[in-house]
Amino acid sequence: MDLVCDVLIVGAGLAGLNTAINLNEDLKIIVLSNDKLHRCNSYLAQGGITTVKNEADKPIFIEDTLKAGAYENDVDTVKLVANHAKEAIQKLIDLGVPFNKDENGHLKYTKEAAHSTNRILYSADSSGKAIWETVRDEALKRKNIKILEETNLIDLIVKNNEVCGGVAIRENTNLSIYSKVTVLASGGIGGIFKNSTNYRNIKGVGISLALKYGIELKDLDYIQLHPTAFHSTCEERKFLITESLRGEGAKLIDDKGNRFVDELMPRDFVSQAIIKYKDEKELPCVLLDARDMGEKYLKERFPKIFTHCLKHGIDISKDPIPVSPCQHYFMGGIKIDSDGKTSMKNLLACGEVSCTGLHGKNRLASNSLLEAAVYSNRVADYINKVIEDKKLSIVPYTEKNAETLNKENEKILISTIKNERKDLIHELLNN
Ligand SMILES: Cc1cc2nc3c(=O)[nH]c(=O)nc-3n(C[C@H](O)[C@H](O)[C@H](O)COP(=O)(O)OP(=O)(O)OC[C@H]3O[C@@H](n4cnc5c(N)ncnc54)[C@H](O)[C@@H]3O)c2cc1C
Repeated sequence: MDLVCDVLIVGAGLAGLNTAINLNEDLKIIVLSNDKLHRCNSYLAQGGITTVKNEADKPIFIEDTLKAGAYENDVDTVKLVANHAKEAIQKLIDLGVPFNKDENGHLKYTKEAAHSTNRILYSADSSGKAIWETVRDEALKRKNIKILEETNLIDLIVKNNEVCGGVAIRENTNLSIYSKVTVLASGGIGGIFKNSTNYRNIKGVGISLALKYGIELKDLDYIQLHPTAFHSTCEERKFLITESLRGEGAKLIDDKGNRFVDELMPRDFVSQAIIKYKDEKELPCVLLDARDMGEKYLKERFPKIFTHCLKHGIDISKDPIPVSPCQHYFMGGIKIDSDGKTSMKNLLACGEVSCTGLHGKNRLASNSLLEAAVYSNRVADYINKVIEDKKLSIVPYTEKNAETLNKENEKILISTIKNERKDLIHELLNN
């Protein structure tokens, strides 16, 4: 079966849906999600979204981002994001995202590790849900946007380094979708790891297809571990204990109550310190102690974490939380320019699947949603400018077995990551 549209967007997280709602309303847009619509990492974000509060904060934000990224960031990208942060955040506020405010109606800001000031907007500890649902609701209102849930992209349709659309599986049927422009917004790679905070359906399809078609990639070894995932052996994915809990005073301790690391160092540093300490002391996990904050504050400020831990028998106002590091985020990805263009004609990318160079070696907390918001705006602006000159190219797709293609995609990605990060081999599925 064939479909045609102006713009095909693979991914319905913040990057994909925000691209869709910023495109001209006379364009025919198809958005794919490979599972239930909410099963994207954008929905899971807890801590919040960074903003740059004012001109004085700009150089400090730039320095914090560079320092966390071990100065391996692309400086022009960091400046670009700093310059467009306020505008991107204002667009979200105008759409109606319910960020927390004080009693006078002013936005409240929280802090996370390696930020030198409070500059993160949040919505309790379900910030991603609040942002994503607002953008989703806007997308659902638009008549020109068709969202296909449970529709799994398995291949691109490519002719002479030019993308003409994609092939997806929907209700066990191959669906060829032809588009003038295609946007990959398919998220990170957590689904290929045994232990990850990501939803399992986020398996790096954009990266594996880029590998298959020789689309330029960058920094494939920059894989971030989050230091504090809830330590449990029975969950589909690891539940994140947000960094803002540490930002607001929680301490990392061992089973005897001793502190062993500065909790507010960048994520890679804290994760490595925990792994080393756990190994030396032969501990299954370490503990995160938020008891000093008191029950009332913890319930109000971190309701999701409070409830989740309680379900697992931990009252965080009385007991420290068992935590250990696991895969969380992919800083590398498809190399894009400042408009989101990739090395393949008519193919753009934004969000976690892309590598803008913003994060360098290690992402600063809450910079990912900001990057997705800024770059999806830019991708939409670019497409709005050029789409008139683009033409549909209907190249017949020779049907291939979907299961084989899915397996091939995953295999190519896993073997690449194995080569890039030998230290993480045992963390990969099918190692
Ligand atoms: C637990 C958790 C907490 C986080 N907290 C924060 C935070 O507080 N602040 C912050 O800035 N960042 C945070 N992050 C990171 C951030 O949420 C993500 O990096 C960001 O949301 C990525 O957005 P995205 O739109 O690129 O991808 P996602 O939101 O992951 O969306 C990917 C989309 O691609 C679709 N897709 C994937 N494969 C296919 C396929 N084969 N076919 C069709 N569709 C496909 C999925 O269905 C999904 O709709 C957190 C991440 C996690 C996991």
